[in-house]
Parts: sequence; C-alpha cells; structure tokens
Amino acid sequence: MRIDIITLFPEMCEAFLNESIIGRARKKGTVEFECHQLRDYAFDKHRRVDDSTYGGGMGMLMKAEPIALCFEDICRKLEKKPHFIYMSPKGKVLTQQRVKELSELENIVILCGHYEGVDQRVLDEYVDEEISIGDYVLTGGELPALILADSISRMIPGVLSDDICFEEESHYNGLLEYPQYTKPYEWRGKTVPDVLISGHHANITKWRRERSLEETAKNRPDMLEKAELTDKEKIYIAEYLKNLE
Ligand code: SAM
Repeated sequence: MRIDIITLFPEMCEAFLNESIIGRARKKGTVEFECHQLRDYAFDKHRRVDDSTYGGGMGMLMKAEPIALCFEDICRKLEKKPHFIYMSPKGKVLTQQRVKELSELENIVILCGHYEGVDQRVLDEYVDEEISIGDYVLTGGELPALILADSISRMIPGVLSDDICFEEESHYNGLLEYPQYTKPYEWRGKTVPDVLISGHHANITKWRRERSLEETAKNRPDMLEKAELTDKEKIYIAEYLKNLE
C-alpha cells in the first residue's frame, strides 16, 4: 500500500508519519508514504496556490492548477490510477467499514485543503471521494489526512504486532469495546473484575460481550440499530437501559 499526501505542510505530516507504529511500518516498507509540497507545482510568477473566490466572500480558495499538476505527476510515477480522496467537512463521515475497504487498495492520494477549501473544478475532474472526519471544521486537511492514513495503515497486515487484535476493537464489529485493565491488580483501592483473573475463557468472553453491549447502549445507542445481536442480547440491553433510568 502506498499513500501520497498533497499538502502545503509536508513537514507536519512527516513528523507524524515517522513516529511510533506508523513510523516503524514505514521503515519496514509495509506502508509507503510520500508527502508532496503543493507549492512546488505553482509555476506562476508568485508561486501562488490560492486566490480570492468568485462571487465575493472573505476567504481565499486553493487554485485548481497546482493540485492538478501535482496529482498528474504522482499518477505518472504509479502503475495504475490511484484512488484520489479530498479531506473535506462536506464529505461522507469516515467509518471503520470505509477504512477497511480503503485498506484493500494499492494506491491512495489524499488532498489536504486549506483556507476556504478548493476550486470545485479540480475536485470534479479528479477526486473520487470526499471524506470528513466529523461534523466540525478544522483549519486545514493535514490532521484529517493523517487520521485517515493512520486508520488505514493499521488495518494492513504486518503493521500491528500480532498480539494487538483489531477485530475486538471498538467499531470493528459494530459495537464499542469492553473496558480493559492492566497491572497492578489493585490500584488506589479499586480491583480488577474477578472474572478477568478467573482463567475461565467462556466466562471472560461472556463478560466482555455484555460490557461491550452496555458501553454501546450507554454511549452510542445509534450503533445498536446496525449491530448483529441475538434476541437474548436485545433483551439484555433493554433491561440494562431500564435499570439506568
Ligand atoms: N469552507 C469549507 C466548508 O465550509 O466546507 C471549510 C474549509 S476548512 C476551513 C479548510 C480545510 O480543512 C478543508 O478544505 C479540508 O481539507 C479541511 N477540513 C476541515 N474540517 C474537516 C473535516 N471535518 N474533515 C475533513 N477535512 C476537514
């Protein structure tokens, strides 16, 4: 998997992509990242990447041509056309399901916007998909692009160590994860639930599933509509919510 990021702040992206789990995966070559300075593709006298908007308005907009030139340059270096994503608060909100689908692609290019956004014509010409990271607005697309790159990368085999299992994590199976505990057994008078030190795997699995249902019912009841639940689990949740009232 190769991810190219088009940005006005490549150093900001590099700083993140060279650290921790993603940094190690990059060094091993499990995931390739390349950050492209958009300004290198602005060839007018002042190397401008932005200009005022037609129709009036206060803000500036990113120009189409530097973005098109940068994307075309990336495409020339790749064997097949990459999937081009523009990070935008107008896009579809990112989900774990979409992350999983994107992790199966070979080449992704991510465009980070700034100012008031991007000239619509280059989006219409080249962009395959607009993705939002949530219903709020940030100053630029770098953090959203890095969130997308991080979430995709950790789904790629070899990026996470074997002992980290994303299949039990929040959102993977449509539910939130159960609470977790580490050593010491007792911390400031609070102990770990007994079942977790019982060594009884079936009971541990049952306890985790029930806590997972409870967390989801409490914090994200909207997720329960799509989750695969048995009739017994639906009754369990209804009783849990009744006791909360
Ligand atoms: N005028 C735009 C609008 O109302 O939709 C907002 C532009 S925002 C200030 C500048 C850039 O930040 C966007 O082009 C986008 O790349 C990025 N951005 C901001 N919020 C985002 C979000 N929730 N998800 C993804 N990208 C976002």
